[in-house]
Amino acid sequence: MENTLDNIKVFRAKHSIRHYKAIRVMEILKFGGSSVSSKVSLENMLQIVRGYNLEGEPLIIVVSALKGVTNHLVNLAEALKKKDKSYNKTINIISEKHQEFIHTIFDEVPLKLKKGLKKQEENLRETASTLIKKEILGSKDYDIIVSFGELFSAQIIAAFLNKNGLDFSFKDARELIITDTSFSNAKIDWDLTTSVVTSFFARNKSSYVVTGFIARSIYGDTTTLGRGGSDYTATILAAVLKAKKVTKWTDVYGIMTADPNKVIEACSLENITFSELKNMSKFGSNVLVHPESIDELSKHNIPFLIRNTFDCNFKGTQVINKEDDCSQKALSAHQSCSIVSFNKGLDLPRIMIKEIIDKNYLFFRIKTFKNDDRSYYIVANDCITFFKENFSASIPETSASFSNFKSAEVIDDNIVLITVTNQKMNKKEQLEKIKKILNTDEIKILGYRLFFNSISFILDKKDFKKALIMLHGEVTNDKVLSVEELVEEAGL
Ligand code: ASP
Ligand code: MG
Repeated sequence: MENTLDNIKVFRAKHSIRHYKAIRVMEILKFGGSSVSSKVSLENMLQIVRGYNLEGEPLIIVVSALKGVTNHLVNLAEALKKKDKSYNKTINIISEKHQEFIHTIFDEVPLKLKKGLKKQEENLRETASTLIKKEILGSKDYDIIVSFGELFSAQIIAAFLNKNGLDFSFKDARELIITDTSFSNAKIDWDLTTSVVTSFFARNKSSYVVTGFIARSIYGDTTTLGRGGSDYTATILAAVLKAKKVTKWTDVYGIMTADPNKVIEACSLENITFSELKNMSKFGSNVLVHPESIDELSKHNIPFLIRNTFDCNFKGTQVINKEDDCSQKALSAHQSCSIVSFNKGLDLPRIMIKEIIDKNYLFFRIKTFKNDDRSYYIVANDCITFFKENFSASIPETSASFSNFKSAEVIDDNIVLITVTNQKMNKKEQLEKIKKILNTDEIKILGYRLFFNSISFILDKKDFKKALIMLHGEVTNDKVLSVEELVEEAGL
């Protein structure tokens, strides 16, 4: 499609006249990078898909690129930007990765797939050789390059399902999802996307493997939805098609009460609310879920299940809106933030506030036990770096708010922020318990914040591991023992 306004008008007109009734697709399954990159996970995928009655209602599978491929493509885009002539090496690595993989999953690689991948690879080489000649490369070019990962993986997965007798077609999401032109982090044009998606699925009542992460602008350019954006692709389709559920198949045991690498007793949560999950993602949980997906699913009240492709017996963590069903608490930790103090009455310049919100940076006021006339905040280290690099020189010093900003002083960067998340808990009571527990080991709380669904507190890094284990015991074993029970437990 050409970049003319007329085209947009025609496109809008064509798609907005017809209003298709939303078709109910039973479920949308999203498979992440590691879930589409091994023979074991693909065999498990087969089991999973065979559990559905595909004759009844169509199933949509959204896939990420093979593990590590998007990072290679990002490197490729960087190489092209720097006019690095050895960029072809990166393409070779990407190509070998896919070739090696298809030979592990197929005894004989289907001809259609062979041809499809070859065409895609040629397209990538051609695009790269054109882009390297371009004077300046921007985010529009970046999106073209990084979109190739999902184009490769979705073809492979569709071919694999076909080979195993399951009727799925490959679908390029650029023919379904329409965005604006904020390349590398495009915003959805919901009206157009709804028309295009509903009309497509009204006409095609079969099952599809759809490329995650990539979309198309109203002008026809390739766009992407931000790193980890395949979750969002699944969510967008679910929202538009009124899916019953979205399941994210990944390589971990859902959302856990703590990072299992740090706390061996950590266990999986059965249920968690969307707002709790969002809080955990922001405050350091490892299970990354694209933040806009969380909001969208919550808005449409579509349950979101996080399961493990490598252990189908695990029932998963269910993310829902109803807080009554979510009583377990979970711990998360953020280790790259600092305590920053400002003159009292912090008044940040608007553009900075906009950046903080847009980039979802950790930035909030805390209560400390200090008694002075400063205000104390927790600020993510990447936010501090961003401000230093982008704002110090560009904002007029005369601005009162800037002088306040200049008063900022990083007073401690050797800290960790631990957060207990649960909407239903009594925050004040819980905070007292935490203080008591940490006190018994002389672990000092440097500051804290109570939020509607969580409590965050700041500790010195040296106390981190010990505190986490002690707190995990406290938050997961919530039973308050009566005197009789205490006596009994002590064997008196
Ligand atoms: N492949 C893209 C990325 O690595 C999108 C995704 O995996 O969700 O960010
Ligand atoms: Mg990926």
